[in-house]
Amino acid sequence: MTAAQGIQARLSETLRLTLVYRLARELNAELRSADVVRRVLHATAEALGTPYASIVSFRRRELHDVYALGGGTSSDPRPALKRVLRDGLAGFALHNHRTVVVNDITANPLWLPLPDEPLSPQFGSALCVPLIHSGEVVGVMTLAHPARGYFTADAINLTATISEMGAAALTNTLLLESAREAEQRYAALFDDAIVPIIITDLQGAIQVANQRACEFLGYSLEELQHRTISSIHRVGTGPLIGDRFDHLQRGLEVRFRSVVWRKDGTSRAVQVYAKRLNHGAGSDQIQWIEHDLSSQIMVEEMRRDMSAMVYHDLRGPLGNVYSSLEALNRLLADDARPQVRNLLDVACRASQQARRLADSLLDIQRLEEGMRLRDRRNSDLNALVRDAVEQMRPLADEKNISMRLALASDLPLIYIEADMIERVISNLIDNAIKYSPDGSVIVISTASSGSEVYVRVKDTGPGIPPDAQQSIFDKFSRVRYRDVPRGVGLGLAFCKLAVEAHGGRIWVRSTGTTGSVFTFALPVDAPATNELPSLGMGLT
Ligand code: ADP
Repeated sequence: MTAAQGIQARLSETLRLTLVYRLARELNAELRSADVVRRVLHATAEALGTPYASIVSFRRRELHDVYALGGGTSSDPRPALKRVLRDGLAGFALHNHRTVVVNDITANPLWLPLPDEPLSPQFGSALCVPLIHSGEVVGVMTLAHPARGYFTADAINLTATISEMGAAALTNTLLLESAREAEQRYAALFDDAIVPIIITDLQGAIQVANQRACEFLGYSLEELQHRTISSIHRVGTGPLIGDRFDHLQRGLEVRFRSVVWRKDGTSRAVQVYAKRLNHGAGSDQIQWIEHDLSSQIMVEEMRRDMSAMVYHDLRGPLGNVYSSLEALNRLLADDARPQVRNLLDVACRASQQARRLADSLLDIQRLEEGMRLRDRRNSDLNALVRDAVEQMRPLADEKNISMRLALASDLPLIYIEADMIERVISNLIDNAIKYSPDGSVIVISTASSGSEVYVRVKDTGPGIPPDAQQSIFDKFSRVRYRDVPRGVGLGLAFCKLAVEAHGGRIWVRSTGTTGSVFTFALPVDAPATNELPSLGMGLT
């Protein structure tokens, strides 16, 4: 080796080190993937003296960007690029994770020239290097020169070093960009969300709230940031109840109905969905979605008012139909024609049943809303049982069912809404008749234990399976039996509400195969006030 060649070699080595050192510092400072690509490409092309250079970058294995020396092309390079990345030199480097050198591009079938300069020369040599970081290809750099055999081993080594640095910097900036995009998407979702969302720390101190939350609560963001999530909820309805905070901190989702205070002193019913947001490194937060229920409550109220009106307005005409049929029955008392008698009986019973249903629907609504019992008076339960039995007798006769009474002689008077309790008894007898076989016997008994009085209706019907013995007292709950007409499933729900409104209880005993015994108990000492527990939300 001559001295001149040695100095030249050391110099070029020094130059290479300087270039790599400078580039490393510049790349470390870059925050955008486009700038990383630009710097890598310019540094390499400058060091190697190549007039043609381009980098294609990938994000999540998809073509992300393309940058070429000398700016863009006159037409969209993507279709041609896709072909190059599949079948061309870049495709080869990409798929084999290998640097490829072509000393004469005119003689190599992998060189697929792009339609436009400056991306692609028509003759000379080319060097193609994949940008690989942690085993993942994040880009492919192609360099070309009009001279054949231009790329020496030194040039290839230098390009490999630069591409390694470039790949690491590109991966980091691409990750940063993905994180930024995700953050922007979340911020946009957060701010544009039509539901109020509040973010707190794990102790409940408010950190951020979206636009909708500020509007809904009437506070500015700054004002909210001086409050805690508990302070905006009405005491006794908020996140401090029970284990809610504890559950949230343990990562469980918590849902509850609550009431929030607004800045103007008014309150609103809300459904709260809260969950912990895991960011790691001790910066976890809790997200609170405060779904406004006022319009839903308004619709529910309108629907309730509407159905109350309908039930109420049905009762009058049904009452008239019933009394007219009764009058007709009396007028035609001497008419011996069996068809006339039959038709009148059926019509009387049907109208009476329809009236009972309208009454029960109205009562269910009244009781569910926690309204007071009306017209309570001291009543003789045995007398109510006898009345109910008389009402049901025609139905029982139709099925040739006999009703036996076993009434306790020592029953105390009880303070009840008699009409309602009589309908409870009628409902139980009605069911017993409906579900019992023709010709069977139903026993209706009363008893007293000192603190409670009992009414019991025993039948020999199909019985009630054990797993349905609780649910039959829910609205619209039914057990299917063969050959038995289906009801609407409201009778027992009414019975339960009515009995519980009087401070009593109702249950059924049945083996689930033959016969059921329905019993209800009412307290002898009626509560001093007849206030009912409210099931509503008590909203202002
Ligand atoms: P309905 O009788 O109109 O369906 P209820 O609320 O009175 O509604 O009764 C709910 C369900 O309970 C009935 O559908 C029936 O499946 C069951 N059930 C009620 N009473 C009896 C009974 N005495 N014997 C057997 N099943 C009964």
